[in-house]
Amino acid sequence: MAEQTVNGRGRRTRKTRYVYSFGGGKADGNASMNWLLGGKGANLAEMAGLGLPVPPGMTISTEVCTYYYANNRNYPSELAQQVQKGLARVEKIIRRRFGDAKNPLLLSVRSGARVSMPGMMDTVLNLGLNDDTVEGLIKQSGNSRFAYDCYRRFVQMYGDVVLGLKPESKTERDPFEKILEEKKVARGIELDSQLSVDDLRELVAEFKTVIHDRLHIKFPDNPQEQLWGAIGAVFGSWNNPRAITYRKIENIPDVWGTAVTVQAMVFGNLGEDCATGVAFTRDLSNGQNVLNGDFLINAQGEDVVAGIRTPQQITLQASRERAAREGRSDEERAQLYPSLEERMPESFTALQQIANTLEAHYKDAQDIEFTVQSGQLWMLQTRAGKRTAAAAMKIAVDMVHAGIVDERTAVLRVAPSQLDQLLHPTLDPNAPKERIARGLPASPGAVTGKVVFSAEDAETAAHDGQKVILVRIETSPDDINGMHAAQGILTARGGASSHAALVSRGMGKCAVVGCEALEVDYERQQFGVRGSATIVSAGDWITLEGSTGEVFRGQVPTRDPNPDTPEFKEFMGWADRFRRLRVRANADTPHDAQVARAFGAEGIGLCRTEHMFFEGDRIDAVREMILADDTAGRVRALEKILPMQRGDFVGILRAMAGLPVTIRLLDPPLHEFLPHTDEEIHDLATKLGVPVDRLRAKRNALHEANPMLGHRGCRLGITFPEIYEVQARAIMEATCDLSRDGVHVIPEIMVPLVGFKSELEMLRERIVQVCAEVAQARGFTVPFTVGTMIEVPRAAVVADTIAEAAEFFSFGTNDLTQMTLGVSRDDAGKFLPAYLTQGVFAQDPFVSLDQSGVGQLIDLAVRKGRATRVDLKIGICGEHGGDPASVEFCHRTGLDYVSCSPYRVPIARLAAAHAVLREVSVEKKIRSSRKKTTDEVLAAASV
Ligand code: PEP
Ligand code: MG
Repeated sequence: MAEQTVNGRGRRTRKTRYVYSFGGGKADGNASMNWLLGGKGANLAEMAGLGLPVPPGMTISTEVCTYYYANNRNYPSELAQQVQKGLARVEKIIRRRFGDAKNPLLLSVRSGARVSMPGMMDTVLNLGLNDDTVEGLIKQSGNSRFAYDCYRRFVQMYGDVVLGLKPESKTERDPFEKILEEKKVARGIELDSQLSVDDLRELVAEFKTVIHDRLHIKFPDNPQEQLWGAIGAVFGSWNNPRAITYRKIENIPDVWGTAVTVQAMVFGNLGEDCATGVAFTRDLSNGQNVLNGDFLINAQGEDVVAGIRTPQQITLQASRERAAREGRSDEERAQLYPSLEERMPESFTALQQIANTLEAHYKDAQDIEFTVQSGQLWMLQTRAGKRTAAAAMKIAVDMVHAGIVDERTAVLRVAPSQLDQLLHPTLDPNAPKERIARGLPASPGAVTGKVVFSAEDAETAAHDGQKVILVRIETSPDDINGMHAAQGILTARGGASSHAALVSRGMGKCAVVGCEALEVDYERQQFGVRGSATIVSAGDWITLEGSTGEVFRGQVPTRDPNPDTPEFKEFMGWADRFRRLRVRANADTPHDAQVARAFGAEGIGLCRTEHMFFEGDRIDAVREMILADDTAGRVRALEKILPMQRGDFVGILRAMAGLPVTIRLLDPPLHEFLPHTDEEIHDLATKLGVPVDRLRAKRNALHEANPMLGHRGCRLGITFPEIYEVQARAIMEATCDLSRDGVHVIPEIMVPLVGFKSELEMLRERIVQVCAEVAQARGFTVPFTVGTMIEVPRAAVVADTIAEAAEFFSFGTNDLTQMTLGVSRDDAGKFLPAYLTQGVFAQDPFVSLDQSGVGQLIDLAVRKGRATRVDLKIGICGEHGGDPASVEFCHRTGLDYVSCSPYRVPIARLAAAHAVLREVSVEKKIRSSRKKTTDEVLAAASV
């Protein structure tokens, strides 16, 4: 940002503007400048420009913050002068002077990042007070108690925030609060408001003394020194530990920096005709179009937040609702906590009008901070209110119906990840909770159940109608039925794409995985939590929160989701109109396919056939096949599997009639299907009538040092051709049978783990051959395609040659991530949490695609693949297919579809729409903004 000035020699030079003034019906900035002025500064400027009552002030831009950190905590040389100029303007408007002992101006100094970071950074109020100016404040207000109350608040806040006098240990009380408490005890009073002027005067002195004794510095009396101290503290608070942590969680870039807003103080604590509060233009928990919020009479802003006094309701209706909940009469209510509507009707009406103006202006529900000083209403902040998913959707839809926003804007108002809240149960936010551990949030939802430690126990208990949570060190395909029977799954090991995580997501089942602190003892049937005395035994109740990875003791009440509202349908309909990407589901059973379709899936992008192998008694036939010593023996066992698989395919293809279904041939290493423990091996040997030793020898023979890079995927198909042949036969028979019945089926046969064209070519030939045989035998031909997963980095690199044999590609980004990063998806839990907390990785690469690494391989494969085959259909079926940022990447990279678990289909649909709409809005902004650089526009658009 620059402005023209004339230098000494009469030549025009460009000078950087760092300070933006507002107030008195004018402003230098506006709401669109939040990247420069922070959300608070930009919106204060906007409100001032609208002529709303905003105390005058100035905002020091985020560029100063960037400069400050880049220059060893120094400011640009022009800043001091610009701040003095801004201050002079405030003094003129308000007709008071900063530091003037007779008629002092007091200031608030507040932080304001581009996006709100509630409570993370620092604020100083009542700045400018000293032993002289406090006398001026007494004269101005005619209220010495008020003036000294402001003074003691200022010394306390400044001492804490700027000078850094804080408790020295976890057990020590806040030193200021301690002195305050001692004073109250000495006076025999309970409330701060009962402190006399003399008490407050003494407190000011005592606070200054403790600062001096502990920090060996004198409290600054010079208002200018106070001001610069506060500005430095607010810039400094951008990098305090809690702000850094918050940025990490919310993915806010460190380079954004905070602005600092310096504003004339208005006082809500000047008497009984003063108040301070927060209002919301709509109910942000359910979206209803009613003004609501809280306020406190005779108080300053921090009192509302501090929770020392219970605030009162703004509207009469809400006040009455509270009284009804508390069983109070209306007289009692009016006595104890009358509404603003009753206590200050004029201010209430003014607030109502301003709320309407702001909502109409911003075209969105607002969260407003206000103060009433001696009957005059002042606006201190407005911003888009944070809302629940249900509220976000209702507000967006209502605003379209009211003609306030168009459908595009409405669609962009709901974050795709927020939809999780609508699709899964959530914990009752008001319920008491005892958290005992925290793992990786693998699959959302909130569930309670009794702990069981084996899949078998889970099945038995569920059969008896009990709710259970399956706790395992890790899960294997063997546990599938137990996982199905359980309410939720908790594992000590594994990452976001471990077996437990992806199977749970597929089932829409809550899961917390990689909870490394868990010490699971199967023998004792209990688990402990490292570093605590917690012991949880089989049969004890626990609660899982799959969106945060938290584990709680006992039964925490949950709230059921209700996505099936008219608003949801209408809203998702709009999203579908905007998106280009198709959205499919990963589904392995007819039931999952139906669920997926109900959530709007446009086909199946991945049917993992191995999951079918575990159902019921089939596993016996599968094991018989594995144990067979020759092809004939394998074929005999496979003949038993064939009709079962065909039945599954019929169910799935029928559920997806008219839509494509990608069926993947067998992928996992065979040892996964064999029993592990000696006891299980004995049982199986008896069942199959084979010697225990033979079984054990087979298990040992199948053992691999590194199974994920071993005998799996297409390598199984090459070495045991009959396995893939039987699967292809089952698919084609199901296809022909359904087609004959008039069902429109679109099968896509997919080969996993291909790295070489020769692998795919060989398998493709056999698949085509088998399908032709089936067609001939059935006297019926149905079109089908054969394609491959791209999971091995080599496949991406040579995608042009592989595309010669593939009609479609599907990126298996779980394996592709594992192999590209050299990070085992099953063992990452051991170090990934440390990588994330220490910031080595910004995100879990198994959750959100590593766009700059794995993403390059995908981009390369898409370009090379399409260079060979223009109509190559390309999708993604790894877990990233349901992650909003990864979906946006897939859109940009030109994929045809994403595929994810059924419960994430609406999230992917919305993310795909956002990808289009953001692209359009960024382009528009770049075109309309000549001054900003492309980077700035992109950064602003990503808010
Ligand atoms: C993948 O690797 O991304 C994939 C979808 O296959 P799986 O998770 O079954 O290995
Ligand atoms: Mg894979």
